[in-house]
Amino acid sequence: MDTNLPASSHPRVVIIGCGFGGLRLAKALRHAPVQVVVVDRNNYHNFQPLLYQVATGALEADSIAYPIRKIFAGQKNFFYRMADVHRVDSATNTVVTSVGDIRYNYLVLATGSLTNFFGLESIERNAMQIKSIPNALNLRSFIFQNFEKALLTENPDERQALLNIVVVGGGPTGVEISGSLAEMRKHVLPKDYPELDLRTMQIFLVEAGPALLGPMSPASQADAKRYLDEPGREGAAQHVHQAL
Ligand SMILES: Cc1cc2nc3c(=O)[nH]c(=O)nc-3n(C[C@H](O)[C@H](O)[C@H](O)COP(=O)(O)OP(=O)(O)OC[C@H]3O[C@@H](n4cnc5c(N)ncnc54)[C@H](O)[C@@H]3O)c2cc1C
Repeated sequence: MDTNLPASSHPRVVIIGCGFGGLRLAKALRHAPVQVVVVDRNNYHNFQPLLYQVATGALEADSIAYPIRKIFAGQKNFFYRMADVHRVDSATNTVVTSVGDIRYNYLVLATGSLTNFFGLESIERNAMQIKSIPNALNLRSFIFQNFEKALLTENPDERQALLNIVVVGGGPTGVEISGSLAEMRKHVLPKDYPELDLRTMQIFLVEAGPALLGPMSPASQADAKRYLDEPGREGAAQHVHQAL
């Protein structure tokens, strides 16, 4: 299949992935004598730092997804193809994609990273990830489906299980999402679910290391812990526990 890219007298730089890295490079090349071709399976740039807000209903997905073509409107040497990259054939300088082959003079891989489960297979099998917008929307929908089920069950143990949320990993994302879930518990859910006793909703943040926010300063670690533990504080996670 042909990807219909125009011929150019300039060398072609193919960038796979339009996350922070790919986007920045493609912009930096706007005046360079090259043809820039960005390939991403999604036609939007996803601002990952706010995924937790989408997962907890504080933001709509649109707010953190920017159309790639709009970002680069006016950049004359820029071309975009929405495609899944299957493999790279370095012998022929070809990227093999779901919409056809793309030849390159220079190739940049900016495909991001996968969730690190630290070898915990059961977590990998059972946990929901938060790396993409579909992940965040799935998580949001799952939480609300559980609340709907909690309303219907007569079994108190089952209801409690449906209201419990376990966050694995006390890094920045785990801390942010726990805090955001606590805000949701305090401000959003009581209005949506007046029939449920939301004081019984529990959010557990599980961290194997001795502190939250492992690589950060001891002062930030202590602040995060205090913030999440403090009962009654605006937005605090009243039921977050740290498993040491
Ligand atoms: C929930 C969360 C919160 C975060 N918060 C912060 C923060 O507060 N501050 C901070 O500095 N960093 C934060 N980060 C980290 C930051 O978002 C990443 O470091 C950054 O997005 C990495 O950029 P990247 O360009 O390497 O990859 P990504 O941004 O992951 O982009 C990779 C792109 O490649 C595309 N792609 C991958 N494989 C293929 C393929 N085979 N074919 C086609 N396209 C493909 C993907 O669709 C994606 O668009 C957070 C990350 C997450 C998940």
